[in-house]
Amino acid sequence: MSTQKAEAKFIDDNFETFVLQLQEAVRKPSIAAQNVGMNEAAQHFKRLMETHGISARLIPTRGGYPCVYGEVKGESDRTVLFYNHYDVQPPDPLDEWESGPFSGDIRDGKIYARGVSDNKGNACARIQAVGTMLKLRKQLPITVKFLIEGEEEIGSPHLGEFIRDNAGLLEADYGVWESGYMNPSGRPGMYLGVKGMLYVELIARGASRDMHSGSATTIPNPAWRLVWALSAIKDENEQILIPGFYDDVLSPTDKEMELLRDAIGDKQMNDSEAHNIARENARALGLKSYLLDLYGLDLRKRSLFSPTANICGFSAGYLGKGQKTVLPARALVKMDFRLVPDQDPEDILSKLRNHLDSQGFGDIEVRLISLDYPVKTPADLPVVDAATEAVISVYGRPPVISPTQGGSGPMYPFKKYLGLPMVSFGVGYWGSSNHGPNENIRLEDYRAGIKMAVEFIDKLAETG
Ligand SMILES: [Zn+2]
Repeated sequence: MSTQKAEAKFIDDNFETFVLQLQEAVRKPSIAAQNVGMNEAAQHFKRLMETHGISARLIPTRGGYPCVYGEVKGESDRTVLFYNHYDVQPPDPLDEWESGPFSGDIRDGKIYARGVSDNKGNACARIQAVGTMLKLRKQLPITVKFLIEGEEEIGSPHLGEFIRDNAGLLEADYGVWESGYMNPSGRPGMYLGVKGMLYVELIARGASRDMHSGSATTIPNPAWRLVWALSAIKDENEQILIPGFYDDVLSPTDKEMELLRDAIGDKQMNDSEAHNIARENARALGLKSYLLDLYGLDLRKRSLFSPTANICGFSAGYLGKGQKTVLPARALVKMDFRLVPDQDPEDILSKLRNHLDSQGFGDIEVRLISLDYPVKTPADLPVVDAATEAVISVYGRPPVISPTQGGSGPMYPFKKYLGLPMVSFGVGYWGSSNHGPNENIRLEDYRAGIKMAVEFIDKLAETG
């Protein structure tokens, strides 16, 4: 325990330097989508690791941006792998930023910059935590590896094959996912998984060119074809009608239900209170209620453990001002299916195809855009306990543990090729505005985040 205090004190004493290092990192724009500053940012993270005593190198991907790999051998072979990314989203719309998106300005105890929360702040905090431990002790108790990729914000197109090709190098016992956020309740959020996703375009075709709408008596309209096909996919009771769609959906375990109850503070709230709160939140969004008028535990359960069939966009014919009487030649819809363990996006894709065929929609083209597998780490693993204990010792309160999250991400290759159970914690908070203007983190969360990574490594070392 005394070493812990020494490390916490070291972090406090050197906090100004750590913040300066974070500012340097966020002042290097690294926009993967626009190929801006990518190599410079990768080099920057390599140098930052070296500054902190971590041996580091860039490893090329096949045709993409390089990954930064770092490693420190510990007393034990037991190994934790930290995953982060050095690329950021484009900063647009620029005029909504109160200071330049790559200025790293500090105002009211917050540091503002594109990428400071997603995801450079987390990467820097973890590197500085390891640097602190190396400074104060000769050795880390366990081996630590870093993988910082440069393509997360464009869908990690090369991450899967990179992990497969470097599985020996990346071998580890536990993984830490990119980020985590402080809840408004003042309890740090921790995530144990991500949803998967199947993203497709459905295309219906009619005549070979747009026609005068007077010919709607005799010429088929592809927009109607698509509407009818869509209504065969989901009904008005929110049931997805693709046969076998729900076959592999896992129900939450008892432990997961316990975590959900803890997250919503179910114990202190009665039914009608919970219902009112849900309706209020829905009203703030301009809605009467959430889907199916759900609230409380059922709402939380559905948001985390249910898959979706969502229409992202629909286009056909004339959508300009006033009227144009046209019968379109083509109609297109973009759909995402958020999937939960153990649904397999490739299996869902073939079930969707078969379903459309069997319903008489063999003419509708299904074009695959992307797919991601769902993953979750069982909540009763020792790595979850280690992270929980670390949170308690740094923040003085337990985390809110979410068995998975509504969003998706490239976590699957870590499970498939490395067999890693992953937890997720970090330096963001509910107001971090990831991907939006004025992205920021609070300096005090940053300070705690560095201490958290130190504690987590120590707690893992204590785990049998
Ligand atoms: Zn992001």
